[in-house]
Amino acid sequence: MSLIVSSQGIILKIFPYSNTSIICNVFTQDRGKLTFIAKGIRKPKNPSLSILQPFNLLEFNYYYKKNRSMHLIKEADILFSFSHLRKDFSTILIGSTILNIINRLFEEEYPQEIIFRLTYKVLNQLSGDKEQSKILFIFFLFHLSKQLGFMPNIDRCNSCNSIFKHDAIFSLRSNSLLCSNCSINNSLDTDFVLTYESLKNCLLINTTHINSIEDIKMSFHNCQELYNFLISFMNSNINNMHKIKGIKEITKIYHEE
Ligand SMILES: [Zn+2]
Repeated sequence: MSLIVSSQGIILKIFPYSNTSIICNVFTQDRGKLTFIAKGIRKPKNPSLSILQPFNLLEFNYYYKKNRSMHLIKEADILFSFSHLRKDFSTILIGSTILNIINRLFEEEYPQEIIFRLTYKVLNQLSGDKEQSKILFIFFLFHLSKQLGFMPNIDRCNSCNSIFKHDAIFSLRSNSLLCSNCSINNSLDTDFVLTYESLKNCLLINTTHINSIEDIKMSFHNCQELYNFLISFMNSNINNMHKIKGIKEITKIYHEE
């Protein structure tokens, strides 16, 4: 038996299905990721077609069946379209990569309310300002890792526990940050320095509310270091993170002045 329920959700991805239907992956606020099917909506002049697009936040009414891989949409209304994202290349890229990460990361029906709010707010704040978009994406990666429970210590050495007062070393082998004393006998070519300045910015990212993100100013090099750190670190925790569509192009944004 199916229940008619309603959820708010952001469309992550859509696929055409049969001649007239659409399947969409949706990140819902209350049930995590769900897959919906909208039947018959690709018929000519069907107005619902235009709102079933990635980025749109919709209110879905649907026939919910537990443990079903797909749920049939009864009706959907648009709540917010994030249309500001489509005006600028780097915001489209960062926004769609965020959707791809969410889509890759989560199985169906694992509620992730905090990550839903994080995603919504980051998408909402992305603007044509490239520097701010870069900081927002770092903010997203950092808080996503933290919510998933695998953020390393950023204020102290993972080995000797001393508080960082100088540059730290990101060690791929231990997948953590070490002080220079601890990394000296244990270093690999893949290790890299995270300057004290970048560490302080990372602590700010940790404590700043997203509504005040404009207060964070970061140099090109600090942005690049933090991005490299977060991506390397997440790569070790999430299978094929670096293969997620968009990551390669975003990496270029952090490396080209
Ligand atoms: Zn140490």
